[in-house]
Amino acid sequence: MLNNLREEVRSTALAMLEAGLVVGSQGNVSAKDPATGLIAITPTNMSYDSITKDDIVIVDVDQRLIWGERKPSCETPMHSYIHKHRKDVYAILHTHSHYATIFAIANRGIPPATINLAAYFGGEVRCAPYVRTGSDTMGPINLSYFGEKGEAILLGNHGALFIGSNLHKVLKLAITLEEGANQIYHAALLGNVVPLPPDEIQWLFNNLPGSEIEGQEKEMLKG
Ligand SMILES: [Zn+2]
Repeated sequence: MLNNLREEVRSTALAMLEAGLVVGSQGNVSAKDPATGLIAITPTNMSYDSITKDDIVIVDVDQRLIWGERKPSCETPMHSYIHKHRKDVYAILHTHSHYATIFAIANRGIPPATINLAAYFGGEVRCAPYVRTGSDTMGPINLSYFGEKGEAILLGNHGALFIGSNLHKVLKLAITLEEGANQIYHAALLGNVVPLPPDEIQWLFNNLPGSEIEGQEKEMLKG
C-alpha cells in the first residue's frame, strides 16, 4: 500500500539522520497521500539507517493503523492532527537538531537575521511552549503557533517542527533553520545580533535573488 509514499518517507528520514538533524531514532517524518488522505509515517524507536520502506506504516487522520507491522511514531497524534486540520500540508518533519533545540530550551524564537532565514521563513520562527511528547495536546497547541507564512516552529524544551507541501521542502527548511540557528547563536556570543529591517525581510521572502542563494531550490520550495 502506497509504496512510493512509504519509500519517500524512508529516504527523507534517512536524509534527516545523515544531515545531523537527529540522532538514532529521534524525530519523525510523515507524508499524506493526496488521493486517499492516508498518512505514511516513520515507526517508533527504529534507527533510520536500518529501516526499509516496509517499516514505514500507514495511519489515517484519526490515528488508526491502516497498514504495517510496526508501531507508528509516538508523535502520531500530532502528525494526524496537523494533517487533518491543514489541508495544504502534505509533509511534516520533526527534528531535535542541536542549535534549534538550544533556542527551544531557552524558549526563544529564532529571528530572521540572516538572508537565508529571511528568505525561507519570512519572519521569526516562533517557539511554542513545552507540551508532553506524544500527548493529544501536541497537535492543537503546536499548530496554533504556525502563522500564515510560518512553516517552522520550535517546540519548547524539545526540538523543531516543519510543515509543508512536500518532503523535499520540509527537509530543506529543517537544514536551513539549523544552519541559521547555529550562526545566530554564535553571533550572539560576539555580543550582537543585528536585525534585518522588516521591509528587507519581506523583500527577501518574496524575491530571493536566484543567483546568490540556491535560486532553483527556492523556486521549487515556493512551488
Ligand atoms: Zn521529539
